[in-house]
Amino acid sequence: MSLFEMTLQELRTGLDRREFTAVEATRAFVERIAATDDTINAFITVCADQALAEATAADRRLAAGESAPLTGIPLAMKDIFNTAGVRTTCASKILDNYVAPYDATAFARLKAQGAVLLGKVNMDEFAMGSSNENSAFGAVHNPWDTTCVPGGSSGGSAACVAARQAPAALGTDTGGSIRQPASHCGVVGLKPTYGRVSRYGVIAYASSLDQVGPVTRDVRDCALLLQAIAGYDPLDSTSVDMPAPDYAAALTADLKGVRIGLPREYFIEGLDADVRQAVEQAVATCRALGAEIVEVSLPHTEYAVACYYLIATAEASSNLARYDGVRFGHRTATQGNLIETYSCSRDEGFGSEVKRRIMLGTYALSSGYYDAYYLKAQKVRTLIRQDFLDAFEKVDVLLGPVAPTPAFRIGEKAADPLQMYLSDIFTIPVNLAGTCAMSLPCGFSATDLPIGLQLIGKPFAEAEILRAAYAFEQATEWHKRKADI
Ligand code: GLN
Repeated sequence: MSLFEMTLQELRTGLDRREFTAVEATRAFVERIAATDDTINAFITVCADQALAEATAADRRLAAGESAPLTGIPLAMKDIFNTAGVRTTCASKILDNYVAPYDATAFARLKAQGAVLLGKVNMDEFAMGSSNENSAFGAVHNPWDTTCVPGGSSGGSAACVAARQAPAALGTDTGGSIRQPASHCGVVGLKPTYGRVSRYGVIAYASSLDQVGPVTRDVRDCALLLQAIAGYDPLDSTSVDMPAPDYAAALTADLKGVRIGLPREYFIEGLDADVRQAVEQAVATCRALGAEIVEVSLPHTEYAVACYYLIATAEASSNLARYDGVRFGHRTATQGNLIETYSCSRDEGFGSEVKRRIMLGTYALSSGYYDAYYLKAQKVRTLIRQDFLDAFEKVDVLLGPVAPTPAFRIGEKAADPLQMYLSDIFTIPVNLAGTCAMSLPCGFSATDLPIGLQLIGKPFAEAEILRAAYAFEQATEWHKRKADI
């Protein structure tokens, strides 16, 4: 097996047994990126030289018997994480030469455990999008069918793992941005509970919804990577001071006694027939593994997309006010007064979807409309959260589709924002509720595109969804298929 075909776990074992070095593993991925990224466009920045230097240092530590969980393992980071010394663009022209002076905590933790940074991966600008088409660095192509989108906004994270350019990556999920691309690219992606992973140093989109999580080849790798980043961070006041359990220890291969709920609202008309069939098949597999299947209701689901597009854009309008061309980022060459400098810098720096959202959010927060839109959305958000808490009185885990369709074609929805927004209908409620959920492969469409299964857990019950996911994965072969690239 080529080194770039290996999972994180396989790389760990091979490195520990001295079957290959960290330099060899890193070089394999760097070469793989060079060979495939003209087609995929997953990387905004490749750190080849720096990665090989870090791998050399990792080999030295391994030889000295100093192995941390990720020593010598190459990983990719969504280009939304600040990485000291390596530029962080957020896929925006406004930050195209921004180099942060510090590391995001999630990245610092990976580094402290020995990981090697392969590069920074593509995304929708400021994480706004579901297709990765909103990137100042060009669209990402789905490794399973390069005429299709990889999903978004963490499209680069999912595509690079599916294309074997990296064994794993970190992404962020504000309304589905880890789970939906994971689903479209046939990999595993987990959005932890709000507060489980530090957001410090992650460029903010919608601060009450953003959460950092792993994108991996399989469920065990997902547990390992979550372990590496989970936990309290005094630098993020919303991170929760509660120790993370041993996620890998939760992985057992049966579902005996687990109550799985099927939210009625997630099996609606309009759900693609292949997606429905794959998810229903998954339900049968879970039942055979010993799970008890119960129908439940999340009655406020239909309001989630509208509610999200008020709250997320309101928060974004405030978060993105800092890009004014003064302290960092793009500054216009146009000579003018202060207001003209602000407005020209922002006009030149932001893409059209980001502008649309800033305007929507500013409107929702403006005097006279605040109560009618923003405040109302906050109330609806409470009802949506309550739906989940009520459902979790009856069941341990919720199961449903991740997205209503498999990956769509590049350009297909680009001119119709509403259609694009609706592709997050099953992922957005989870962010509004603040709980955890993941996507894992559960089948393929008639046109051979991957389909993801969503498992939603109680707040801070990541171990429970990982357990269910692992049992399902062990009983199926979907995660073993790979894109022909
Ligand atoms: N697709 C959703 C949006 O456009 C979610 C994005 C995300 O999770 N960052 O806002």
